[in-house]
Amino acid sequence: MSYIDAVQSRRTFAIISHPDAGKTTLTEKLLLFGGAIREAGTVKGKKNTKHAVSDWMEIEKQRGISVTSSVLEFKYNSYHINILDTPGHEDFSEDTYRTLTAADSATMLIDTAKGVEAQTKKLFKVCKMRGIPIFTFMNKLDRQGRDPFELMEELEELLGIRSYPMGWPIGMGQSFSGVYDRINQKLELYNPDNPKDIDIIQLSGPDDPKLDEAINDEGLVSQFREELELLDVAGDPYDLNLIKSGELTPIFFGSAISSFGVQTFLEHFLSLSPSPSPRKSSTGEIDPLTNEDFSGFIFKIQANMNPAHRDRVAFLRITSGTFERGMAVNHVRLGKQMKLTQPTQFLAQSRNIIDKAYPGDIIGLFDPGTLRIGDTLVQNNTFEFAEMPHFSPEYFSTITVKEALKHKSFEKGIHQLTEEGAIQLFKTYNRFAEQQIVGVVGVLQFEVLEYRLKHEYKVDIQLERLPFTLARWVTGDEDALTVFKKTQRNLVTDRDQRIVALFENDFQMRTAADKYPDITFHENSYTQ
Ligand code: GDP
Repeated sequence: MSYIDAVQSRRTFAIISHPDAGKTTLTEKLLLFGGAIREAGTVKGKKNTKHAVSDWMEIEKQRGISVTSSVLEFKYNSYHINILDTPGHEDFSEDTYRTLTAADSATMLIDTAKGVEAQTKKLFKVCKMRGIPIFTFMNKLDRQGRDPFELMEELEELLGIRSYPMGWPIGMGQSFSGVYDRINQKLELYNPDNPKDIDIIQLSGPDDPKLDEAINDEGLVSQFREELELLDVAGDPYDLNLIKSGELTPIFFGSAISSFGVQTFLEHFLSLSPSPSPRKSSTGEIDPLTNEDFSGFIFKIQANMNPAHRDRVAFLRITSGTFERGMAVNHVRLGKQMKLTQPTQFLAQSRNIIDKAYPGDIIGLFDPGTLRIGDTLVQNNTFEFAEMPHFSPEYFSTITVKEALKHKSFEKGIHQLTEEGAIQLFKTYNRFAEQQIVGVVGVLQFEVLEYRLKHEYKVDIQLERLPFTLARWVTGDEDALTVFKKTQRNLVTDRDQRIVALFENDFQMRTAADKYPDITFHENSYTQ
């Protein structure tokens, strides 16, 4: 296979959803289609684990390095697909956001009974910021859910995205009979007694009498026809450019648990979603199709929880060129050459040493401590990819070391954990007594922090929760900033000395925004 074919056959995407929407189930069905696994029940969700940190640590130890929170790879027809797994349950963290920066598109999975939920909204925002295409899968049609029109309205109201239903359901829950594919005029029939037995009928259009024969429920069929007409007249037109720029989301309907609608979704998704896209760098865009020199960036670092093996794995997303085992690359930040000797690819079930990989692929590099999130590795060049953003934490605590003598180990430990991206470290700004403040996206990270500092650095810490729930990176012209800095109390600096304002809630933040119209409040450090 030529290099260009290898690039064009790749699809790297993430599934974003709220816990329980069916992400594990959908992922598993996709892997089954691709033949990457043979039976259901192989992909493990994490929700069965309790919220206790000790359990979480145990799991990580047993697994060594968590495979489920990296990437799942499978082939389908001529496509090579990488699903980036976004930890979405109790270990929700900034990692989840950062993983999305390695995706070229996203699939938003929604439980039709629940609609757009909190976590989906947060993850959606990150995808929107990147302008990547977003596909929507409305799941659990076998159960009574909300009216599809209402769900479309919700996408627009809560997420600000318009939608184009690629298919339209006939009935729902007890009356669920199938989904009509608006693009190919195919009717996929649902058989509740044997959901795996899917009949597909080619129609000439929604008025085809074959539809009446197949469904045999006059009321349902006429309702479906009316709805489809309404969609044709009042709905958004199909616009591939808007889909590609992430402004229009194609909607698919199905039931992941019964594999219903999954294959149709997969096939449309593969034909509409982008192959590995160009990335911004210090020397302009790096397009994988025109740059055959290897380059990539680190988007995630995972420590091995087993104290006997202190090594870490750095996950690199390949941006351009062919990766070959043992190759020498420039570690641009350090200005050093490094050899990539033991690269690992994380397949559905096992870790394999790999010899070759292409743009869109994710490789795991064993890291003795020289790699950081956002680092660029590149062959024959010295450019750097755009900085990896920091996202607003939701929980904040002051952090102090219990024994002053352990100060050095403490500093080393929190520095390390900051680099891994598990926590963000801030310092109070302009206070008499400077304090360090830790911010995390998921509350479990506090416990992980305590545990790891104790076990890996032999340091006991004290955390004191602060009432803040939002961080905003602030920018503005000098005069405005000077006034703002003088009058605001809850200011901190991040590790790059940027000014960040902390707020207890949205209302407080909006009040400040109204009071200081010349200051911009950024949700992440990206937009600086
Ligand atoms: P995750 O938390 O998003 O990974 O969700 P899971 O895939 O673990 O699914 C959550 C629950 O929803 C499980 O009990 C699944 O069996 C169930 N589920 C997933 N897909 C469907 C579906 O299409 N229909 C129904 N009725 N249940 C589903």
